[in-house]
Order: sequence, then C-alpha cells, then structure tokens
Amino acid sequence: MKFTTNSYLAGLLILLLVACQPATQQNPATTAELIVTNAKIAVMDAEQTFAEAIAVKDGKVLATGSHTEIIALKGDSTKMLDAEGRTLIPGLNDSHLHLTRGGRFFNAELRWDGVKTLKRALQMLKEQAERTPEGQWVRVIGGWSPFQFAEKRFPTPAEINEATGNVPTYVLFLYSRAWLNKAGLEILGIDENTKAPEGSQFEKGPDGKLSGVLLAEPNPTILYARIGSLPPLSSDEMINSTRQFYRELNRLGVTSGIDAGGGGHKFPRDYTGTASLATAGEMPIRLSYYLFPQNKGAEYEEFQEWMANNEVGHNGEIHLDHGYELEGGGEFLAWSAGDFENFLAPQPLLEDRPTWRADIKRVIRLHVDKGWPFRIHATYGESIANILGVLEEVNEETGGKVAQLRWLFDHAETVQESELARIKALNGGIAIQARLAYAGEYFVERYGADKAKQAPPVKKMLEMGIPVGAGTDGTRVASYNPWPALYWLITGETVGGLGLAEAANRLSRSEALHLYTQGSAYISNEERVKGTLEKGMYADFALLSDDYFSVPEAQIKDIQSVLTVVGGKVVYGSGAYLSFNPPLPAVIPEWSPVKFYGGYQK
Ligand SMILES: [Zn+2]
Repeated sequence: MKFTTNSYLAGLLILLLVACQPATQQNPATTAELIVTNAKIAVMDAEQTFAEAIAVKDGKVLATGSHTEIIALKGDSTKMLDAEGRTLIPGLNDSHLHLTRGGRFFNAELRWDGVKTLKRALQMLKEQAERTPEGQWVRVIGGWSPFQFAEKRFPTPAEINEATGNVPTYVLFLYSRAWLNKAGLEILGIDENTKAPEGSQFEKGPDGKLSGVLLAEPNPTILYARIGSLPPLSSDEMINSTRQFYRELNRLGVTSGIDAGGGGHKFPRDYTGTASLATAGEMPIRLSYYLFPQNKGAEYEEFQEWMANNEVGHNGEIHLDHGYELEGGGEFLAWSAGDFENFLAPQPLLEDRPTWRADIKRVIRLHVDKGWPFRIHATYGESIANILGVLEEVNEETGGKVAQLRWLFDHAETVQESELARIKALNGGIAIQARLAYAGEYFVERYGADKAKQAPPVKKMLEMGIPVGAGTDGTRVASYNPWPALYWLITGETVGGLGLAEAANRLSRSEALHLYTQGSAYISNEERVKGTLEKGMYADFALLSDDYFSVPEAQIKDIQSVLTVVGGKVVYGSGAYLSFNPPLPAVIPEWSPVKFYGGYQK
C-alpha cells in the first residue's frame, strides 16, 4: 500500500485525536451519577432478572447488570456505593395509605405498631402520660392488634386509667372500638346521659356506669368524632410531623404512596403539611392523592368545586413529577355507599340506606363526565355487586366511558368470582391491603375460617388478569409498615400468627413484591415510569437489612431499609450508609412520643 501525503496527514490527525482523549471514555450521556455495586438486585422485570450492580443518571435507571458492565459507566464524579452483598429492590409503593393525614398527626401519636407485649404497650402509655403537658392528650390511634401482644388481649379500662392517671387519654383499635380514660371522658363532657350516634354506643358496666369503651357497631363516627376533638399540632409542628412520618416510611423502604383521603381530613385545608414540603421541593416520597368528601349528602357539590379548581392526569408525565400529584376522587365517593370494615360488628348492607344508589351514581357520573379517575371503598362482595350495577349503568349511558377510565375498588375482602368478572369487564382494578392481618381473628370469629381462606381472593384476581396493587390502609386500620403486609400476602397469616389464606391463595415473595411495586404504580397511572429497575424507570429503590428472598418467613415482618433512594437521591441511610442520611430537624413538640420511641417498634 503506497502512503500519500494526505494519508500521512490523516494518520497524524487520528493519532492526535486519540492522544487527546482522557484516560477513561466519558460520554456524558452514558456516565452514571450514582452506581451501587456488589448487590443482589431484583430488577422485577418480566424475566425476573437479578443483577449485581445498578447505574443511575438524571434520577432514572441508566442500567443494571454485572459488576463489569456497570463499572464501565463510571465517570470521575460518579458516586460509588458498595452494597456489601445486600438485597436491593424497587422502592415499595403503598397504593392505599393515609399519608397526608398520617403525617399531620404522627408526632402527636404514640404508636403501638410492632409492640410485642401489652405490658410494654401500657408502660409506654404510662411514660407518655408523665411527659404530656397540660392541655394535651396521650393518643394511640390504631395500627395495632391485640393478637400481636404475647397476652393476646385488649387492655382493660382499669389498666389504661392506672397507666395514665388524670392525663386525658384516647386509645383506638382499628375502626372497631376505643378507650377513653376517666380524665378524657370528663374533658369531653361525656357521661351516662350522652347519646351515641346511631349504630354505636358508649359501653356501660353492670353498674350502669360508663366503662370508657366506645363501640362502633359498625358506625365508626363515634370514634372519628373523638379524634377530631383532640388538640391539633401547631402548623410548624405539623410540618415537622409530616417530615418525620415520611422519613419513617423511607426507613421502611417506601418510596411512593397513594393517598386515599380519609374522614376528618379536608382538602386543601388539612393537606398543608405535605403541600408545603412539595412546594419547597422537599418531598422524600412520591405521593399521589385521591380526594375524599367530608360533607355527607353534599359530596356531589364538593367534587364539583374540586374539579372546577384542580387538574388531574399529570401522573406519569416524567417532566412534571414533583412528588405530589392529584390523581382523582375517592376512596369515598358517597358516605351512604360506604360499608365499614368492622368485623367485630354485623356487616352493614347498602340496601339499609335509602339514598346510597342515587348518591353514588351522581358522583360516579360526574367523574366520568370530567374524565377524573376514581376509587371506591368496598369491603364486602355484596357492596361491590351493588355498586357494579351502578357502574354498568353509567358505562351503558356514557357509551362505555367507565371502561375507558382508570378506576378501582379498594379492599374487596369478600369479593366473589362473579363480581371479579364484572370488574374485569369494566377494566377496573383492585387495591388490596393487609387489614385482615390486624383484624383476621375477628373476621374468622364472625364469618368462619372457610370464608377467610379466600379473603381477599388475590390469586384469583391475578389469574383473571385484573390489575392489583397492594398496601396497608395505614395508619389506623393497620400499621403503615409494609413488611407485615408482605408477610401476610406470603404466609396468609395475621400479625398474631393466625392462618387465614389457604395455600392456593398465598403469593410467592416475587408476586407479593410485584404487587407492592409495579402493581401499586398502576393505581396512580405510573406503571410505565416506576415499579421495576429497568432502564429508564425512576431510580427509586431500597437496600434491605435482610435478604427478602431467602430470610425465614417470620423474619420478613422485621425487614427494614438501610439505604433508600428516590429519583437517584438518598432519602434515608443507616448503619454503613448513615453518612448519606439527609439531615432532619429535631422532632417537635418536646413531648412528642416520636422523639422518645420513633414509629414502628421492632
Ligand atoms: Zn377504606
């Protein structure tokens, strides 16, 4: 081959170009900002891939793969984390959690979540009473089961009074019953003559005197009303409380949550804690929320006003996700159509309420006409069958528009196959929660062990191809901790250890995790942007304290995160990753039980 002057010059030029290249090839488009290596990464894609390392860029997954593959994406400024062989999963997404309300009250509440003995629970009550200032209350607001205690029983009014003395105290068990101590009864002016709302009672002892126990039978208004009358936190305390609650969720590996509104929680007035974090760009969790009407009988007007002043449908738009997105209406659309999940009391029937059908139909039609997604609280198959009749009617009247909208039922503990087929026909989804993990013993007492075997029939839902999301329904009718919920999905057992679900209705660890990640993402129309760790998905993940896929089942309940990442940013770190833990203001007020006990008790 003959070299001309030109070929020399060309050769020289190439040499020069190569020589000028820095040591490592750094194409900005493929240079990671964060790399986690030496991990057992569950990508949770359709192939159930496990990888060794993950690379993150612009808040999204750049790649997962072997150590060698991923290390090639390292640049000079890439942050490197060694997972020390730990298991890494997509961030957990609770698709039915009362986050904004939970945050609002977290610092004021003594949590019995995870407490192992009643003795310890009463000791915490006593200690909290001693530090509670004049004018404030000791309050335990749900999230526990008497069967989690070694003693397997409720506290007695005498034990609560002995522990708390003259410090007003309110202890709530799910939406079934509550205890007011003597000081509390007095402050609220409740005596033997006080009338309880219909479908509830102030329990009296054989002497005709109030015992202090409030019973929802099944109407929980008697319980809600008391919570509403307890002194609120100040605005600063509430914002701090919201921060502490979301950090607690991050500590447990939660990176997303879908808010179902809730009683005694008015939008937008009571959402300021979360709204202020979002406005400041400080949301450590991705939160979608549904709106819950507060005015019984005027729900239609409340929704009209919300729809006139707010927009939905931005979820899934990556460029917009600032972690606080309005998604639609529910979980209640009309109070008259709400069947309360109190298994210590008879099942409420919608037929007993003359206006339920007209009430919910108007509101459903409004959502369909406005194109607003919606979700509907329904515990029992009978309620679901009734409401499906309305949905099918509206779908008919609107030329199939219900089936084109993202809509779902919540809970569905006793839904039957025939109802599942009708949900499927209308393209509906279902969000299930671990409520029976906290109330399963009472469900079996009332409905029998047979009915509990398929409550809810989650395996059947999946076999029928119905989109299913998982969660807790925390913070009152269950603990907000996702791990007891995953334990329940896998073992079919309550937190008290009672077996409920039959083997055919139990999920594998991967199936359960899928529901708690991508399954839940469906509920907020975000299954295309999060829930797996495939390339391009949000870099939301948790590095776990134990290997979820191999740890003995009983220990699944106690798993936590040691490093939680949202959008490529560390939102929580402990142990070897403590130095990455973002600063958090000290808990206020001074007497807050969270300052002394934190949240979930391991
Ligand atoms: Zn509900």
